[in-house]
Amino acid sequence: MTETLRAVRGMNDVLMDETPTWQVVEDAARRVLDAYAYREIRLPVLEFTELFKRSIGEVTDIVEKEMYTFDDRNGESLTLRPEATAGVVRAAISNGLTHNQRHKVWTSGPMFRREKPQKGRYRQFYQIDVEAIGYQGPDVDAEMILMSARLFRELGLPNIELQLNTLGTAAARAVYRARLIDYFERYRGDLDDDAKRRLHSNPLRLLDSKNPALAGIIAEAPTLTADLDTESRDHFDALTALISDAGIAFVVNPRLVRGLDYYSRTVFEWVTTALGSQGAVLSGGRYDGLYEQLGGKSVPAIGWAAGVERLVGLYQACHEQKLAFQPHIYIVAVGQAALRYAMQLAERLRTAISGLSVEVNFDGGSFKSQLKRADKSGAPWALIIGENELNEQRFGLKPLRSDDGQQTVDETQLINLLTSLPMGGAMAMNQ
Ligand code: ATP
Ligand code: MG
Repeated sequence: MTETLRAVRGMNDVLMDETPTWQVVEDAARRVLDAYAYREIRLPVLEFTELFKRSIGEVTDIVEKEMYTFDDRNGESLTLRPEATAGVVRAAISNGLTHNQRHKVWTSGPMFRREKPQKGRYRQFYQIDVEAIGYQGPDVDAEMILMSARLFRELGLPNIELQLNTLGTAAARAVYRARLIDYFERYRGDLDDDAKRRLHSNPLRLLDSKNPALAGIIAEAPTLTADLDTESRDHFDALTALISDAGIAFVVNPRLVRGLDYYSRTVFEWVTTALGSQGAVLSGGRYDGLYEQLGGKSVPAIGWAAGVERLVGLYQACHEQKLAFQPHIYIVAVGQAALRYAMQLAERLRTAISGLSVEVNFDGGSFKSQLKRADKSGAPWALIIGENELNEQRFGLKPLRSDDGQQTVDETQLINLLTSLPMGGAMAMNQ
């Protein structure tokens, strides 16, 4: 295959057999976000490179080696967004949304990171991202977790474990940093290059390393618990009480620090073992310092992001039946006059019944071959129009998925019958 006919490595086509599952996931997310009164915001996929350097942090995998960065024709450095939070913060500041206002928003779309592609890890991947701007918590922190739990429940995804931690305030982290540096210095010889390089600039990041060789050292590393300030401790206790009220189980993972630099206090991650090594399904946390860091005034905020590919993968792992798109009715039209009539009838049906999916047989074919196509379309019904049917204005309605016999119906009867069908959301029905 020539170069131009290959997709870029790590960037996937999501084909028609897969999109129904994506739609189910996205529709469920939309319903859940509506249920908590979060409003949608749509943002560009390109931002100035500087935005990500200043928010995510220079000493991170993303900024050091994973961003798709290029110079625009006027020389400005632009980057395809590797995550959504920075863009939301930028948009909130540049649109003046933080002046005596608070907002609960969500957004979704593709993110770009030049990682090593593997199952559940791609270079273009999709996220659903939720942010509460101007809220101090811990009530909103709990809501973040409640809504993610509800999303999993709606999708029928069991066995996703909630891990929780608190990173305290910047002051508490400064003390902790020093302790971490001391600790890791003792194992300097065992550290990989990334870890060595970050040891002094960003020691917390070492806890987030995916290098299995470091797992033992990381497991023994000191935790922040001892350095935690009283307010952060109270915040965390209030949060866990609210989550417990909701009956949501969690484990406190004192080594959960999250991959990005800007978190403070609450951090959480929902993890599963059902997706192999790509176990993080949804992760989030509080980032009270980020607005100021980006040149705005101080605004407390918290958010989460879920990987859509991972939700889709989990959905497929948890549900045997594969979702497929299928029209409700396929019109078999034999002969030119029948086709002309069929196209008009199909328009009338679409007008009469909102949500109805009608496919008309195109490019002719014998009755038998048209019925074959009807069957392949997945439609539960075929409507048969030939010369006789046209003359009598009564059509054959043939069930394609049951042994029930064919009936003869006029247009009114057809509409009544189709109206009584369960329409189902977005046509994604179980086969
Ligand atoms: P991981 O630990 O798997 O690298 P992360 O900590 O980098 O994830 P975040 O930056 O917090 O992830 O992004 C939120 C979610 O986006 C993750 O929980 C995951 O579901 C998804 N995600 C992150 N990176 C990728 C990727 N390269 N491909 C697919 N999904 C991803
Ligand atoms: Mg990552």
